[in-house]
This record gives sequence, C-alpha cells and structure tokens, in this order.
Amino acid sequence: MATTLTQPKVGIVSLGCPKALVDSERIITRLRAEGYQIAPDYTGADLVLVNTCGFLDSAREESLDAIGEALNENGKVIVTGCLGHEKDVITDRHPNVLAVTGPHQYEQVMEAVHDHLPAPGHPFVSLVPEAGVRLTPRHYAYLKISEGCNNRCTFCIIPSMRGDLASRRIDAVLREGEQLVKAGVKELLVISQDTSAYGLDVKYAPYTWNGVERQTRFKDLCEGLGELGVWTRLHYVYPYPHVDDVIPMMAEGKILPYLDIPFQHASPKVLKAMKRPGNNEKTLERIKRWRRDVPDFTLRSTFIVGFPGETEEDFQILLDWMAEAKIDRAGCFKYENVTGAASAALPDHVPEEVKEERWHRFMALQAEISDARSQSMIGRTIDVLIDEVDDEGATGRSKADAPEIDGSVFIEDAEGLKPGDLIEARVTGADEYDLWADAID
Ligand code: SF4
Repeated sequence: MATTLTQPKVGIVSLGCPKALVDSERIITRLRAEGYQIAPDYTGADLVLVNTCGFLDSAREESLDAIGEALNENGKVIVTGCLGHEKDVITDRHPNVLAVTGPHQYEQVMEAVHDHLPAPGHPFVSLVPEAGVRLTPRHYAYLKISEGCNNRCTFCIIPSMRGDLASRRIDAVLREGEQLVKAGVKELLVISQDTSAYGLDVKYAPYTWNGVERQTRFKDLCEGLGELGVWTRLHYVYPYPHVDDVIPMMAEGKILPYLDIPFQHASPKVLKAMKRPGNNEKTLERIKRWRRDVPDFTLRSTFIVGFPGETEEDFQILLDWMAEAKIDRAGCFKYENVTGAASAALPDHVPEEVKEERWHRFMALQAEISDARSQSMIGRTIDVLIDEVDDEGATGRSKADAPEIDGSVFIEDAEGLKPGDLIEARVTGADEYDLWADAID
C-alpha cells in the first residue's frame, strides 16, 4: 500500500548582506535534510522564518517591518539573524512572534522550528543534496570562511552582535568548495567579516586536504581554492601586508584579479576616529604594485562620507586618494548612527545636507573613474560568465564584476547560451558600470 507523505512547509524571508544569505542557505539545508519543504509564499507556509539584519538603523526598521508583514500574512513567525541579538526590540514591537534566536544559532533555530512544527521523520523525505541548498543561482555560491571579527571599528556593532573571529577549519572550507564545484558551481565568492584575518584565532591550525597539509590561513585557503579550477573572488579583505601573498596567484590566473577591500576613508584623522588602519600612502604604493603585477586588476571598495569630525579638508583627501588609487568599483554610504556604535558619541557630527553634498561629489568622481575604465574595454576580448538568458539576450559578468554589487555584460545574440556558461566575448559598447559585447563563436 502506498504511503502518502505530507511535508510541513516553511517559508523563508532573508534580509541583509550575503553573509546573512549564507546563514539562510544553511538553515534551508537543515530543514530540507529533516524533510521540511520550503514554501515559495506566505500562504503556502505552515510557518515563516525571518532572517533579519541589524547593521544600520534603516536595516533594523526594514527587519521589523518584514516581521510585521509575515505575522499579518501568515501568523506563525520565528525570527533569527543579527537583529535576533536584541530580542526585546523585536518582542516589544511584535509580541506574537513564536521565538527569537540570534545570528548563526542554527541549533536554536531548528529547535524552535521543531517546537512549533514537528519534523516529518520519514526517511524518504529526509534526503539532502550533496552541496546543500543554495539561494544563489546554481553557478555561483558564497563560501563563508569565518564568523565574527576581532576589529573594533567605531561605526560598527557587528563584533558585539557576532562576537570575535571564529574561523572554520581549512579542510572543511575546501571540502565545501570542492562539493560546490562538483555540483556545478563556476564561481566561489569568499565571504566573512574580515577575510584576511582568517585563521588568526585558531593559531593557523594545520589540517590535511587532498593529501596536502594546509594551515588555516588566508594564503593556504587561496592556494587550495585556486586548485578547484573555477573563479574564486575574495570579498571583505582588510589590507594587511600578507594580502600581497595572493597577488602572484592572481597573476597566474588561479584566483580572480579582484579584491574587495572596504577602505572606508583615506584621511588619517578620520581613519583613526574610525579605528581603522591609517597608512594610506603605503596602501597607495601597494595598489600601484598590484596593478603593475596583475593585468586587469580590479579593486572594489566601500567608503563612508560624513563621519563625525570629517572636515572639507578630510573629504578632499579622500577624493584625491580615490583619484590616485583609481578605485574601479565603489559603494559609498552617508554616515548613519547605529544604535550601540561608539561613533555615535563622537563630537562634530556632520549636518545631513553636507553629507548629501559630499556623497554626490564622491559618486560623480567614481562615475568618471569607472567610465574611463569601461571605455578602455571597448574592442577587447573578455571572459563572461552568463547569469541569465531571456528573449532580449543574455546577461553575464566579467572577472571584474561580482554578482549583485558590480556591473553586467549584456549580450544581444544569446543563441545557444545558458546560465553558467563561461564564454569569450568582444566588447562593443560601455557606460559607467555596464558593458555590451558580442559572443565569439
Ligand atoms: S572590520 Fe570593522 S566594519 Fe568590518 S565587521 Fe569588523 S568591526 Fe565591523
């Protein structure tokens, strides 16, 4: 006699940064492993999990609104993620949530789900795909190497929410990377709060992967990932001197010639107030060396304008430095007080209209730098990883573009192309952020 299996359905709302996305993916993997189904909308779900972000006050509001929406639409809501760290903030506004857990508390999230929606416990519905379940398209995946951070940037509350650096074992990270590649991933995006500090907390403990002993450290990680034969992109790299160790791997094509370094500012005075490393003259020399040694090296960064105490002179230092460093891709945030951040108590807060004006000047300079780079690409042949194909053509990315934050490459004639294809294309047009290209047969 046939058994009818009913699988309890859980809806997921994932807010925030790629790091939160990885947490959601892990939770989904666990849910699927235990036989739960993932519901695509509120109405089809027996329960909704909201993975929140609590970094900026605006993100906290967005998270609280999302919890409210899930409660209205579904009624059974469990909250996890960064804002879960401040349980009272959530329960004051939404007393009817079923449970609140903090970031990376996978066990607690699962316990809360079990309490309110028991697992089916049938072996036929408890199978896990080898590489887990991912929310990102099949051909790229985020690889999280550590949690937490040992730095204490004054504008940031992540260390107080997520704790000090806790690195994953290098063999576990490389094994996960290998499984993802076996499952069809063409691009690995390495993420953490501070990628270059990887392993410091575990004193660079050695483990064996693929018959070779490797230390839990940035250089060994990049060497291992470089052996997997796919694009490896490094995000959130603090500019410590040992970052130079991966430059030869970029020159050899083992790691993508791309570094995402959140510089935040260039004025030594502002950097000191932010508690960030301040030797930007030296950093400038290093950037020039990286560009000399690695063809098509791309530097992405984020900056904050209007930090407390930032004068017009400080801001000008930032603009001059940007122009000299030729930061290829830059995100710019207007300083915002985050509840609990030390910077809120600093003197000389910058008026909103000045922040606004500086932000526009910053973005105008960035557009100029970015446009010059884009225009110089016309006529060149580049590698493109295809992300999407529809009636209007294909959209992909070059080695210089990370998904979701950088530009795209548009290909009109997409005949025979599918997501995940890696092709060669000749660039025919460009604007500040995007390129247009023809596929080469
Ligand atoms: S490096 Fe600074 S900004 Fe980044 S997570 Fe650590 S403390 Fe926050």
